[in-house]
Amino acid sequence: MRYISTRGGAPSVDFTDALLAGLAPDGGLYVPETWPRFSAEQIAAFAGKPYAEVAAAVLGAFAGDSLSPEAIAQDCAAAYASFTHASVTPLRQLEPGRWLLELFHGPTLAFKDVAMQLLARLYDRVLAERKRTLTIVCATSGDTGGAAVEAFRGSPHVKLVALYPEGRISEVQRRFMTAAAEDNIRCVAVDGTFDDCQAILKSLFADKTFAADVDLSGVNSINWARIVAQSVYYFTSAVALGAPSRQVAFTVPTGNFGDAFAAYVALRMGLPIAAIQVATNSNDILARAFTTGRYAKGEVVATQSPAMDIQVASNFERLYFEAVGRDAAETARAFAAFAATGELQMPSQAFDSIKTLFSGVCIDEPTTAAAMKSAFEAYGEPVDPHTAVALAAPHPTLAQGVPLVTLSTAHPAKFPEAVSAATGFTPPLPAKAGDLFVRPERIDRLPADVEAVKVYVRAFAAS
Ligand SMILES: *Cc1c(COP(=O)(O)O)cnc(C)c1O
Repeated sequence: MRYISTRGGAPSVDFTDALLAGLAPDGGLYVPETWPRFSAEQIAAFAGKPYAEVAAAVLGAFAGDSLSPEAIAQDCAAAYASFTHASVTPLRQLEPGRWLLELFHGPTLAFKDVAMQLLARLYDRVLAERKRTLTIVCATSGDTGGAAVEAFRGSPHVKLVALYPEGRISEVQRRFMTAAAEDNIRCVAVDGTFDDCQAILKSLFADKTFAADVDLSGVNSINWARIVAQSVYYFTSAVALGAPSRQVAFTVPTGNFGDAFAAYVALRMGLPIAAIQVATNSNDILARAFTTGRYAKGEVVATQSPAMDIQVASNFERLYFEAVGRDAAETARAFAAFAATGELQMPSQAFDSIKTLFSGVCIDEPTTAAAMKSAFEAYGEPVDPHTAVALAAPHPTLAQGVPLVTLSTAHPAKFPEAVSAATGFTPPLPAKAGDLFVRPERIDRLPADVEAVKVYVRAFAAS
């Protein structure tokens, strides 16, 4: 299995090289050269299997012969043993036809653990084989950083720098990053927004000399292996609800479009998904794109759901590439134009094809708070504000008898202020989070400036 860049200007690579590279050298994103497919029988056979086994089957389909089946099985088993729920990502029924897919039973209480726990094990395996070390820089809107720190702390092969927007993440999110004592971890509060952090990260990759000097690697959701890992729970949840003989619909709270694109991956592999509804907070670039066909950057505003305070949805480029018939030259043109002007118009044929599957909706702050309140009253348990954004979305597929699964992306205790303000109930941290609030924090601070970050990362990589 080979991976090509959405912009067509980079040589194809195998799965492990796509894993370690993150972004393709031409600025595009890696996608598989062809989509592997499961037969209906293969999908049906996932029913009742342990999560790690389904993960190994999905990963195996994408890894080709770059990883052995034994290695894949071992890393999947170890990754998902770190989750505290036996089914890893359990489904909870809310009402007839409606389910919540709980993705927050990993060590840092958000869905980012699902991919990051696996990614770290794959990195360590491949780097040990190649006798290499890497510097990972990640930009985080709050949860990726914690999940990456937790997954990579103590790794002998990886130094990790997490860039987060100062003051724009919750205290629990911050502490999951900054409380790590291991020397291979650095947390940097950037004086800017998540989009600033992400733009800095892209500039680091664009500077080829710098990237080579520090052996730069990326684990943001631009990393193909993360998308693969996230496509697994679409299979397990849909199969539990009757797929492949029955269609299932999903509502996904999103900002960077990683999770929603993972649903698309599952669909391309053969899973019968009726609809993918993309729910954003007031940072509505995706909601507008799926409604109007115009993908145009707005100003980032801070919301109760900070992990989605994003106005550049990196993974959208992968969908665009598919929608224009895998025309890499057109994709390169469109995203170069987007980088210059902050907007692009989808060709009408591409938009028409996207609309048959995707829809977008923007949920404002009062509606999000109201959804947290009504979920608490109706179901007796609080949901986190990101999940609330997705729960608040209108759900037209319910009327058609298609089961609707809403992704629950974080534990409510990760956002206690927002949950408490909306419901009057302060969700306690689960016992496994232990002494998070007493451990000392280690934080460095930098301006939102590429050169300053380069100097910092160079010094750390050389240390
Ligand atoms: C990261 C995150 C999201 C959004 O994920 P995308 O990669 O943008 O799809 C949603 N909810 C929570 C809690 C998150 O941490």
